[in-house]
Amino acid sequence: MNVLVIGGGVVGVTTAYYLSQKGMNVTVLEAQEKGGDFGATAGNAGLLSPSDAFAWASPSALKVAIKSLLNSQLGIQYKLHMDPALWGWTASFLSQCRSSKWVQNTDSKFRLAQYSIDNLADLRLATNINFDASDQGIAYASRSPSNLKKLRSHFNFLEDRGLKLELLDRDGLHEKLPLLQASSKTYAGAVFSPNCKTGDSAKFSLELGRWCVENTKCRFVWGASVESFLQKNNKISSVLTSKGEFKADAYVLAAGAHSGILAKQLDIKLPIYPIKGFSITAPLINTKMKPMSGFDDTDKLVSLSIFGDRLRISSSAVFDGFNTSHRQQDFQGILNLAKEILPDVANYSAAKYWAGLRPMTPSSLPILGPSPMQNLYLNVGHGNLGWTLACGTGKIVADLIANEKPRVNISPFLFKAK
Ligand SMILES: Cc1cc2nc3c(=O)[nH]c(=O)nc-3n(C[C@H](O)[C@H](O)[C@H](O)COP(=O)(O)OP(=O)(O)OC[C@H]3O[C@@H](n4cnc5c(N)ncnc54)[C@H](O)[C@@H]3O)c2cc1C
Repeated sequence: MNVLVIGGGVVGVTTAYYLSQKGMNVTVLEAQEKGGDFGATAGNAGLLSPSDAFAWASPSALKVAIKSLLNSQLGIQYKLHMDPALWGWTASFLSQCRSSKWVQNTDSKFRLAQYSIDNLADLRLATNINFDASDQGIAYASRSPSNLKKLRSHFNFLEDRGLKLELLDRDGLHEKLPLLQASSKTYAGAVFSPNCKTGDSAKFSLELGRWCVENTKCRFVWGASVESFLQKNNKISSVLTSKGEFKADAYVLAAGAHSGILAKQLDIKLPIYPIKGFSITAPLINTKMKPMSGFDDTDKLVSLSIFGDRLRISSSAVFDGFNTSHRQQDFQGILNLAKEILPDVANYSAAKYWAGLRPMTPSSLPILGPSPMQNLYLNVGHGNLGWTLACGTGKIVADLIANEKPRVNISPFLFKAK
């Protein structure tokens, strides 16, 4: 069977891996040239974290949105602008804010994330690829004892579903993350998730792609932007790209935030809105440092990871359409925090600045599997957690294409026409 995967971000590449493990001929079409800035995969925070499976639509989300309209300094910036796509998305998002929906969505997302982390472990054993992973857990730190108490009870929901957690006081946090020593008075403590991990999703995608090309019937066509589809009898017969026409038996849409634009050409309405985030990547001063736990300042909404010889710090959720432009001031909050808590760790004057788009659905759940077109499968809408979810969703979509039953309940993730 010949399968064509549209999009070479972490979701497209993992899908290609699981399809090629089933002996299929796989072609990945990626709009960017090799080494280009490919989607949200290129600069995300690097957390592999079922601990971040909380659905964004919750009973308190409206309060956060109103706060963000009044305070432009907040990490979340909901901007009211003339974008009907944003209004439609917001209406659906609000319909997911009921407590019962939040419980359902968070539960489904958490189970998928755990499944994905299990699949990632198998993939690492099978391929032995290097993506500067660290298996040292993630610390969710808070600046005041009262916030730390609230944070701990917030995590009860995931702990009840099997997430392992430890509560760290200030000394415990500094023991786990000795690099924070300079900021000895900043944090009251942290909730620590020992089984979570960090790693560079861009390096992972390139390395896994290389592994697939060398070991399976998989090829990549870089710089091939899918422009339109030819269709017959409710099936795609070929795709037209900037590098010519490509045909296959089945097609997988995995184009991140741009998936909705492509699906619209096929009259499929995907509820995905691009939510912009920022990161900086700075070279470490001491490149011989041991791997370190991931870290999240839950009061400032800033996450950080160390990948081999570099520090990645990331933040913000800005509702601003497909615009990925950025200004120096967008990074000020991240830079200030990095210099406050890790002043001598990285060379911040040599930092690279990046902005990317989270492909966010109103429910925070990805959309997986069959679509209204007979031979088109969806692997889209991974939102704030696509790096964590990629191995699980890639495996599920490959199973469905091979007519095999996925090992998780996929009904929460199926496409529902409006
Ligand atoms: C600031 C930030 C921090 C984040 N932190 C984390 C984190 O710590 N942990 C986590 O799990 N997730 C995180 N995420 C989310 C995660 O990065 C995304 O969910 C994930 O990268 C989505 O992967 P994807 O492959 O679906 O999309 P993308 O990575 O966006 O890849 C889509 C690919 O499709 C290609 N494409 C688009 N249109 C076409 C076309 N017409 N033809 C061919 N190719 C096309 C693009 O060039 C791109 O390479 C973060 C996201 C952001 C923005």
